Amino acid sequence: MLFSNLVGQDSVKKRLIQSVHDNRVSHAQLFLGPEGSGNLAMAIAYAQYISCSNKTSEDSCGSCSSCIKYNKLVHPDLHFVFPINTSSLLDSSKDSVICDFFLEFWRKSILHNPYFNLNQWYESIGIENKQGIISAKESNEIVKKLALKTYESEYKVMIIWMPEKMHNSSSNKLLKILEEPPEKTLFILVAENQDSLLPTVLSRTQLVKISKLSDQEIINALVSNKNISLDTATDVAFLCEGNYNEALMLLEENESENFYSSQFIQWMRLSYTVKVLDIIEWVDGVAALGREKQKGFLSYAIRMIRESMMLNYADKTMVKLNGEMLDFLSKFAPFIHGANCLQINEEFNKAYAHIERNANPKILFLDLSFKLMKLLKVKY
Ligand SMILES: [Zn+2]
Repeated sequence: MLFSNLVGQDSVKKRLIQSVHDNRVSHAQLFLGPEGSGNLAMAIAYAQYISCSNKTSEDSCGSCSSCIKYNKLVHPDLHFVFPINTSSLLDSSKDSVICDFFLEFWRKSILHNPYFNLNQWYESIGIENKQGIISAKESNEIVKKLALKTYESEYKVMIIWMPEKMHNSSSNKLLKILEEPPEKTLFILVAENQDSLLPTVLSRTQLVKISKLSDQEIINALVSNKNISLDTATDVAFLCEGNYNEALMLLEENESENFYSSQFIQWMRLSYTVKVLDIIEWVDGVAALGREKQKGFLSYAIRMIRESMMLNYADKTMVKLNGEMLDFLSKFAPFIHGANCLQINEEFNKAYAHIERNANPKILFLDLSFKLMKLLKVKY
């Protein structure tokens, strides 16, 4: 991770770079910043910079042997600790499982989006309904790892993400090593909420405060990284409140929404006009999407049937749709009425359940389209 890969935060970057040049790298630091501020990305970029053998005055080189390992997060002197939960593991040795067991997932998550939040992390390791913790045995492991000699760099780096999830016994074990760390060891605690940390941990770390991003920083990043218009970027920045992770999620929703709406309009037109050959071609396209996308599309279709009924019978100001979809539904809604809406809704819901149960999507969407052709012709 290069500093230049990070969104905004120029003054923090400058201060950290200066501390390396001045030889003032404090051995225990707390990178405190809200979700989506990039505190984890900043910690990795900082560690990479310290370890880079060919650094410039502004950034790591990105191509020395240390950087190449950092780019894949596999440097032997870079260690991570993060919250996990092992209760769902079937393995009988699960009680001895530590973070390293999840390291592949961890690397993948960061390389995909270093701004991810705790829920996304839990989802990626399949524990979304449970709480993750950093246990006392993890602290033992930290002490053990740091007692080893460095392999390749001057510094051993230990990045602890979400120390808020440390068990008290785990924090207490760490205190001693935070106070008197082995030589050339760098601890970076990456936290969001200062109040959830033990005062004794806080007092042993140097605070690096990372603020939420400004709208302008988010707009600049979205326009240059995501290839979207300034207008869309401005809308997203307005909604995400300085949280770049939220910005990425909103953008994804926005893209899905646009995709689903164009698919829905096409499907309804073809079904109403009974263009069977075109329907078959449309079904091929939908069948090639992933299962999650197909479910997303069916949820969207169910919502559009409901919006049509609202347009027909309820308060039109409650209908929340973008321009193109509103135009289409204003004309299409009269074909959805009391004599067919329940059945269409039921068929869409059934299809959704079948997709969840691994039904063949080609047969399912074709079958559904034939039903729709008939149902859209029902007169009220
Ligand atoms: Zn380098």
